[in-house]
Amino acid sequence: MPTARADAAALDGADPLAAFVDRFLSDDPELCYLDGNSLGRLSADARHALATAIDDDWGRDLVRGWGRWIDLPRRVGDRLAPLIGAGAGEVLVCDSTTVNLYKVITAALAQRGDRPELVVPVGEFPTDRYVLEGIACAHGVRLRFGEPVTAGDATAVVVASVVDFRTGALADVAATTAAVHDVGALMCWDLSHAAGSVVVDLAGAGADLAVGCTYKHLCGGPGAPGYLYVRADLQPRLESPIWGWFAQDDQFGMGPRFTPAPSIERFLTGTPNVVSLLAVDASIALVTEAGIERLQAKGRALTELVVQLYDEWLAPLGFGLLSPRASHERGAHVAITHPDAHRIGRAAVAAGVIADVRPPDVLRLGPAPISTRFVEVWDGMDRLRRLVESGEHERLPRERSRVT
Ligand SMILES: *Cc1c(COP(=O)(O)O)cnc(C)c1O
Repeated sequence: MPTARADAAALDGADPLAAFVDRFLSDDPELCYLDGNSLGRLSADARHALATAIDDDWGRDLVRGWGRWIDLPRRVGDRLAPLIGAGAGEVLVCDSTTVNLYKVITAALAQRGDRPELVVPVGEFPTDRYVLEGIACAHGVRLRFGEPVTAGDATAVVVASVVDFRTGALADVAATTAAVHDVGALMCWDLSHAAGSVVVDLAGAGADLAVGCTYKHLCGGPGAPGYLYVRADLQPRLESPIWGWFAQDDQFGMGPRFTPAPSIERFLTGTPNVVSLLAVDASIALVTEAGIERLQAKGRALTELVVQLYDEWLAPLGFGLLSPRASHERGAHVAITHPDAHRIGRAAVAAGVIADVRPPDVLRLGPAPISTRFVEVWDGMDRLRRLVESGEHERLPRERSRVT
């Protein structure tokens, strides 16, 4: 039996998270937004938080607001902590993922100073690989491309993603962390594609470090600050390479010398982005209200529908499936391949289906569980197959755009 639109509508009817879709703003009911893994939609809560941050916090309170703002990186971190299996005082929301990775890995490398190697999978997100390459170059250690399980006696730190940005594959966080610890190395997880879409238990896995961003499944808005996690017992032993005044023990003592704060704050740098942090705070509250177990279950059901429709409609048109077939082995996006992926991606956007393309030939379909209906997936997949069937994409020029 082919999957009908009514089947998708039935799934929406039975969806315990259906009401959350209406808490996101959309001025185009025809749009099929399958890129929530790249930039989450705008919620009414985040919009309200931003309006308040501008009018009341900045506009009215001016510099008097700092009494309330100064602790935001820590407070928003504490709100995020339960979503990733961390405790209070172990997470800061600050800087970008890239900068946070630089800070925690440089600190961790110094902790394992006698070991000459960093390990990262060759398919890891580019910024992670580049930051590690830069650290390796500056500190005279080597960067080896390999899976976490290849770590050995020479490895200081391993970095890997919980959900692979390209394939959507979900890592076994506990088993991988244990294997890395067995050889005496430290494990840093990148949660960028995982937080807000799958259950993550950093404490349960005994993870040492983690970083991630808030603008994907946490819906914090474009360019919203990232976050970092340092396990409580490691904090006194790790030193951030950036000695900024927000990391200073007695910040407003403004003394002549740097003394790092005894707590997670030692990983702060400078003045935080208050407006954005207030939006992130509201967004994380919304994700928390939806519940991470329910979000994970819906993410699996949505991507199951994507895979089912891929089998029926897209596989016969020359597409391949890159993501794991078993729903419990992936996050909330599905990667499919096609030799003409770039032009198909652009034609899809023109047809009101937002997905993204990753080189060389990958099309990512990310129906964010908090803001996507099953019929939106059905409609998006339907438009995708129609445009490929009709050869619409072949009428587009071959050059790719700067942002894909
Ligand atoms: C999205 C993403 C990033 C983003 O880093 P920024 O510093 O926010 O640009 C980093 N790593 C991974 C794995 C990502 O998915």
